[in-house]
Amino acid sequence: MSEWITFPFPKCPSCGKQWGENYHKDCVFNGQLLVEPYQRQVKCESCSAQWYILDSKFYCYCGYEFYPSEVEDALSTTQLLRQRLLQKLNEMDSYERSIVSKSQNSFKEWIFDISYEIGKALGITVSKAQEIIKNFFDKWSF
Ligand SMILES: [Zn+2]
Ligand SMILES: [Zn+2]
Repeated sequence: MSEWITFPFPKCPSCGKQWGENYHKDCVFNGQLLVEPYQRQVKCESCSAQWYILDSKFYCYCGYEFYPSEVEDALSTTQLLRQRLLQKLNEMDSYERSIVSKSQNSFKEWIFDISYEIGKALGITVSKAQEIIKNFFDKWSF
């Protein structure tokens, strides 16, 4: 299984900013970086360079260098799931979103569908995915 996603960059402890995307440092094409969380690989979209996440250094634009543990945390299941959900929600248009949030039943159905898809992608069980998603929405309002 291989899935390349944009790196869910953690919030910078130094400047407090969070970047949704990041770029290959010193790359002639200034390519965007993608990560494969399961195989712990990073690659540059433009020059095709590929390497292990833990062998690489991640810098914020302010110059702060992230610790490997901070990078690992950003790739934890919960973080990945969160990113997945936000991506899904962004893909839905506002009409769909209002239907899903207005009807309890369709919301449950939607959670079930998405749990299946996410569980499969993250290698966790559907019920585990459902549990995490429900927790996520408890702290989140439309
Ligand atoms: Zn910073
Ligand atoms: Zn590159």
